[in-house]
Amino acid sequence: MKMRLLIVEDDEALRSSLVRSLDRSYVIDEAGDGREASECLTHKRFDVVLSDIDLPHGSGIDVLRLVRDCDLDVPVILMTGQPSVDTAIEAMDLGAFTYLKKPFERGTLERALGRAGTLGKLARIKREAMSTLGKNGALPGDRAGLSTIFQQALDTLWIAYQPILCRQTQKTIGFEALLRCKAMPTPNAVIEAAERLDRIHDLGRRVRECAAACFKPCNRDMLLFVNLHAVDFSDPELYSSTTHLAKIASSVILEVTERTAINDITDTRRRATELRSLGYRIAVDDLGAGYAGLTTFANLEPEVVKLDMSLVRNIENSPVQFRIVEGITNLCHSLGMKVVAEGIETTRELQTIHELGCDYLQGYLLGAPQPFLLDHVMQQPASI
Ligand code: C2E
Ligand code: MG
Ligand code: MG
Repeated sequence: MKMRLLIVEDDEALRSSLVRSLDRSYVIDEAGDGREASECLTHKRFDVVLSDIDLPHGSGIDVLRLVRDCDLDVPVILMTGQPSVDTAIEAMDLGAFTYLKKPFERGTLERALGRAGTLGKLARIKREAMSTLGKNGALPGDRAGLSTIFQQALDTLWIAYQPILCRQTQKTIGFEALLRCKAMPTPNAVIEAAERLDRIHDLGRRVRECAAACFKPCNRDMLLFVNLHAVDFSDPELYSSTTHLAKIASSVILEVTERTAINDITDTRRRATELRSLGYRIAVDDLGAGYAGLTTFANLEPEVVKLDMSLVRNIENSPVQFRIVEGITNLCHSLGMKVVAEGIETTRELQTIHELGCDYLQGYLLGAPQPFLLDHVMQQPASI
């Protein structure tokens, strides 16, 4: 089946030539200005949109915004004779697929359209697969639907706390705060929605507020581990000294995951110093799972390192995992960092981790995430 293409171009001669050269491969609709484009986009669905940037009655950026309001996955290719850095940045922020500088060759356009169409299809199949497999609750592709469900997630958000134990004393030393909500099945689904809607700061603020508020009454000697998204680092609210979390900062360890590109955080060292001056400590989460380079690690100078659970899983049967965990633990200890082994599910894993000397332990075997209960602190951990 042919893909549906919308061409938005005010130069009639160029528009006709584009239509002529592409109408064998695509079902094409044409618009000569922003208004006509808006009309088309309100009434029809397209697989790819190709739009000029300079248009009467609106710009290509407005077209892009309109497309994103209805569907987050439709690829939009922008064309311009006068590329400017500002427009390029705005276009990329809004998820433009690519940017063609006029005049371009027919082959360049065909390749861009071909790739855009394929990636658009892939995005839709991926969404379908996620819905079939029940992953991430099949996030709606349209922005309005996603916004509604994300708002429900924020409104129903609560925090589950998972205990973290000291290997030597077997006592609970603190809890990791993990976000939960009624509207979406997994924290990752909520995070993905926030990323797509550019609302990570709203989510992070709500998590930190809730995590601190529920934890407060019982926080005496307990540590609170709170997850941060890389984007949270650019939220001025994180550096405020008046939030609920800041008031208990000396008990708080902020976890920065290795899974997302923390390399993208600029000025890591200064930001980490600022957080420390408020009393927070920092952990690198999921070590071994991601791309964080040595520089980020060096700049963050974490007090705590959490091993990714893939390193812990069946460690008793894997000499390679054993050697890696042994190596990381020894190196971290020599740098004065504490090591948490996450995701411990079996007594065999627990025994092996115990032998390796990781400082703290976390996993279903020792305690599942649950709403905060006073008797969490009193619980009897599984024996080592
Ligand atoms: P994480 O920070 O590495 O958290 C540990 C995850 O492992 C949690 O999944 C926890 O429920 C799960 N887990 C704990 N023990 C075991 C075990 O023994 N076996 C297995 N298979 N899993 C175990 P959860 O709550 O689904 O969270 C997934 C990820 O979502 C977290 O990984 C974290 O990266 C992110 N996340 C959760 N809450 C927040 C949050 O408030 N803010 C941010 N930015 N990210 C969060
Ligand atoms: Mg974590
Ligand atoms: Mg982790």
